[in-house]
Amino acid sequence: MEIKAIRGFNDILPNEIGKWQFVEESAREVFEGFGFSEIRIPIIERTELFSRGIGEATDIVEKEMYTFTDRSGNSLTLRPEATASMARAYLEHQIYSFDPVAKLYCIGPMFRYERPQKGRYRQFYQIDAEVFGVENPMVDAEVIIMLIHFLKRVGLEKLELQINTLGCRDCRPRYREELRKFLATKSFQLCEDCQRRLQTNPLRILDCKVESCQEAIADAPKVIDFIDGECQKHFDKVKAYLEMAGLSYILNPRMVRGLDYYTRTAFEVVSYQLGSQNAVTGGGRYDNLFQEIGGLDVPGIGFAIGMERLISLLPKEKEFIRYPHLFIAALGEEAYREAYRLVNQLHLEGIRAELDYEAKSLKSQMRRADKLKVQYVLILGEEEMKRGKAALRNMTDKFQEEILINNLLETLKSKIVFD
Ligand SMILES: [Zn+2]
Ligand SMILES: [Zn+2]
Repeated sequence: MEIKAIRGFNDILPNEIGKWQFVEESAREVFEGFGFSEIRIPIIERTELFSRGIGEATDIVEKEMYTFTDRSGNSLTLRPEATASMARAYLEHQIYSFDPVAKLYCIGPMFRYERPQKGRYRQFYQIDAEVFGVENPMVDAEVIIMLIHFLKRVGLEKLELQINTLGCRDCRPRYREELRKFLATKSFQLCEDCQRRLQTNPLRILDCKVESCQEAIADAPKVIDFIDGECQKHFDKVKAYLEMAGLSYILNPRMVRGLDYYTRTAFEVVSYQLGSQNAVTGGGRYDNLFQEIGGLDVPGIGFAIGMERLISLLPKEKEFIRYPHLFIAALGEEAYREAYRLVNQLHLEGIRAELDYEAKSLKSQMRRADKLKVQYVLILGEEEMKRGKAALRNMTDKFQEEILINNLLETLKSKIVFD
């Protein structure tokens, strides 16, 4: 029987990889320009890192974690997100002892045991950026500015920044209680999940997509009316710093973000590029996460971008596949050896050159050159070679000229369009 990939796990094929590499390279370039450094964290962690960090009463921990017991009986989990691991690494390696401020990013696969459906995968990819150790609202704005700059850099358009504040551990419980009381009066309208959330995590009801739940929350109290003075001041400054940077935003009082650990600033970026509204990415501040996992009181803020979604929004007209620059068609034994020598020489110079390994007819070699979408074909015939010459054909305008083989490298460098 033919062995296939597991459901929800995908191959990223060579004809798609250009987009992924483009997005990853752009992220590195933009983030490092903002003073961020890459961190690579393990794919597997102890389960309690996520259950404590993300929160027991979240969808992720309740039903989406890829958890298993290893041969020694430890409960391990494939990372469902990167923030908790990055925070763990920051504490474990005492990165703060060098400088309390750490700006880190991470690119890689995450795992969630979700019901496989269109656009949902069990292995999916995220780009994460986090700043640890700063409570100042200036850094909230900085992180958002970097995010928007990155999204524009990869070519996304019609973006809308939405922000909200979620309060802190002092003022949010009051809101949570008000919300619970309000929703309890509408509990007959709530879906099964939300009935349960009413007891465990009423804030999560605010982003339930079920229509009757949406109706139930229409007049729900807003967190902004319950936050304390400190949180209000923090939020006002975030807004002021965004305005100073010329970024426009929309206040979205219903945005709560999925995870328990968020506090104060929350943000999402939506794209209207495909007509309808598509959430591209989101993030926020989490000033309690570190205490949950390690005891130190370290503030943090960051975002995660789902790469599959982002890649589906890339400009359609941009070319991401790197075709060979040159195909060498050789006629005869002598020419074939010369083609081999030239191809190897050109590869060392960064010119993507291909030849035919089967030494077929000129016609079939030209057909392959066409299929590979090369810019030029060098035709090596025995007669011309004796004069040190070969024919170079431009595959776009079909113009063909005779060139000196000794000048091949310079000739190509002056003609090839490098990507
Ligand atoms: Zn507060
Ligand atoms: Zn619901």
